[in-house]
Amino acid sequence: MQKSNNVMPKVLVVEDSKVTISVLSTYLENMGITQIFKAESGEQAMALYRKERPDIILLDIQLPDIDGFSIAQQVRKLEQKDDWTAIIFLTGMSKDEDLARGIAVGGDDYLTKPVSSVVLEAKVRAMQRLLKMQRELVKVTRELNVANAELQRLSTTDALTGIANRRALNDFMSREWRRCLRIKKQMSLVMLDIDFFKLYNDKYGHQAGDDCLRSVAEQILRAAPRGTDMAARYGGEEFMLVLSETNVDGAVWIAERVRQMVSDLRIPHYATPSKLVSVSCGVVTILPESGRTLEVFLKSVDAALYQAKRGGRDQVVCGEYGKT
Ligand code: GH3
Ligand code: MG
Ligand code: MG
Ligand code: MG
Repeated sequence: MQKSNNVMPKVLVVEDSKVTISVLSTYLENMGITQIFKAESGEQAMALYRKERPDIILLDIQLPDIDGFSIAQQVRKLEQKDDWTAIIFLTGMSKDEDLARGIAVGGDDYLTKPVSSVVLEAKVRAMQRLLKMQRELVKVTRELNVANAELQRLSTTDALTGIANRRALNDFMSREWRRCLRIKKQMSLVMLDIDFFKLYNDKYGHQAGDDCLRSVAEQILRAAPRGTDMAARYGGEEFMLVLSETNVDGAVWIAERVRQMVSDLRIPHYATPSKLVSVSCGVVTILPESGRTLEVFLKSVDAALYQAKRGGRDQVVCGEYGKT
């Protein structure tokens, strides 16, 4: 049940003396509180707590069945995360041990009986203030969590293409490198670069260039559907596919498929051999092991890409770790 957000709290009075209950209720009513629930036993108190989720509980310690301490403990257990009920114990005079125990089991304050209306009102007001602050804190915390998640998304996403950016790529590559090292599985990288893209921009304009980058990114993303894969924008018109637990045949197959998918977009480009926008790809597969580094891995895949460019572009070249 939703907690009341209005100014006046819902109050549950748990007290086995009918006289005390009626006195307390009158005081509360005089304060303008309309939602008052009364329980004369522990069992009734718990049932009402579950049903009404009061904001404040005035809790007598000595009750015919369950004592007030265990009621407080049960309430604390039932409270959801971000949910807080103010518990004020009602104690007899000169029962310091009760008081200390009440606070220890989760009580927030106490009132000594007979309760004075002035003190009751002061304490209820104080609890109301705390409740208001607690709720604002919960609200602000939630808003912060949402903002943080958005910030996290923005900081790892490339603004133009919407796929992972260089930063997310670096994190992912390091993580996958360590994981593949641990599980002794192969890992592949595919570096892709759009052919003659400078000429594309010069001829068709920067806006068309951006559209082209988006379309190519979309194909690259489609080619890496596994949870252990990542498609990222490496920089400018360069992209990277990280394929963990993928051997060389698998990686070359995927690279070839992306090359084909880009070609199938059939975006005209006057300067390429096919007269269509195309990509060149470098592929390297290795088994991460000690002595090998991610840096050399990256240099090797860059070298393979360079070979693809030299070989006439619009092609996939498979390189080797260490051949840079
Ligand atoms: P190559 O086939 O050898 O790769 O030739 P290239 O022209 O593609 O290579 P180069 O590195 O000379 O040019 C890359 C161009 O990519 C330069 C720049 O105009 C373009 N570029 C980089 N980032 C963006 C971008 O965000 N938007 C647009 N429209 N163009 C970009
Ligand atoms: Mg009692
Ligand atoms: Mg380039
Ligand atoms: Mg290029």
